[in-house]
Parts: sequence; structure tokens; C-alpha cells
Amino acid sequence: MEEEAKYSLPDLPYAADALEPYMSKEQLTIHHDKHHMAYVNGANANLAALDEGRKKGTDPNMKPVLKDLSWNFGGHYLHSLFWANLAPAGKGGGGEPSGATAEKIKTGFGSFDRFKAEFTQAAASVEGSGWAALIECPLTKRLQIMQVEKHNTNVFPACRVLMVLDLFEHAYYIDYKNDRGAFIGAFWNIVNWDEVNRRL
Ligand code: MN
Repeated sequence: MEEEAKYSLPDLPYAADALEPYMSKEQLTIHHDKHHMAYVNGANANLAALDEGRKKGTDPNMKPVLKDLSWNFGGHYLHSLFWANLAPAGKGGGGEPSGATAEKIKTGFGSFDRFKAEFTQAAASVEGSGWAALIECPLTKRLQIMQVEKHNTNVFPACRVLMVLDLFEHAYYIDYKNDRGAFIGAFWNIVNWDEVNRRL
């Protein structure tokens, strides 16, 4: 069998202290270098286990490997989207969307304030560890909010993911301790609407 591609940790698209004071250098560095890295390593280990089984012709043991791969792949993919959804406050981060995103939010939610209230509540009420996401439905082209449990549960398949917010405690415990609401409030100052427009 030929050697196939592996997953790799993407570099942050800004300096590690660029999102301060809303996200500290320490918080961002641990999140990216340790937590995200663990999903990359985990997904690669899952692929290696599958490859190993193919080489040796052993019992594939599919269910636990695929369950673990779904968790690790979901973590890697969502974090990769997340870093690009952020930008330094006042330098691409914060404010309100423009262009197509602004129009579709107005059409779909009535106003930006209503959208912000819905997304904030979706993020605040994620059960345990998970994500809030803004997506575009491929069938209706409507914008919808998706509440992801863990990295891989409650996901709408095939939807274009425009914006994600990580609600795992590891995303905010250094800066905000257990105050998820404060972290969500801070997010609106560093959200990168240009990136949302680009994906749309
Ligand atoms: Mn995370």
C-alpha cells in the first residue's frame, strides 16, 4: 500500500497575542498547540490503526476506531475553521457583517440583533462540550444555527459551515474560568465577518 496523506496542525493566521484582551496568548497557545494538536495526532493514530490492520490482515475492529476517528476528525476540522473565524479586534475582528452575510442574516433572522441573540443563546446552552455554528443549508440556501454536541453529534450533513464558536471549557477556562457567557460576549469583538463572507 502507498503512503497516504496525514492530518496536520495549521498555523494560526495571526500572532498568538493578537486577540488580546478577548483571548489571551496563554489561552490561545494552549488551545491551538495542545488541544487542537491532540485531535490531529488522534486522527492520524486512528488512520494508522486502520492501515496496520490492513497490512496484517487482522480483524478490523471498525466500530471503536470509527467512533474515535469521528471525534478526532470533527475536532481537527472545527478547530481549523475556528481559527480563521477570528481576527484581532478592530483589525478585521468584531463589528457587524457586510455584504452577502449581512443580507442573508437580515432575510433569515429579521435583524443582526436577533441573529446575535439566537446565536448567543445557542452557544450558551450547548450541553456539556460542543460548538455553535452558523451554516448555510444546501437545500434551501437559508442560514441556520447548528448546535454541535462534542465535535460530531447533532451535525447537519453536507451544510456549508460559515462560522463556529468553540464552547469546550478548554476554549476559555484560563481567561474566563467557568463563565461561558463572558467568553461568548468577548467572541463578538473578534469574530471575522470577512471570513464568513468568503465561505458564503
Ligand atoms: Mn477547542
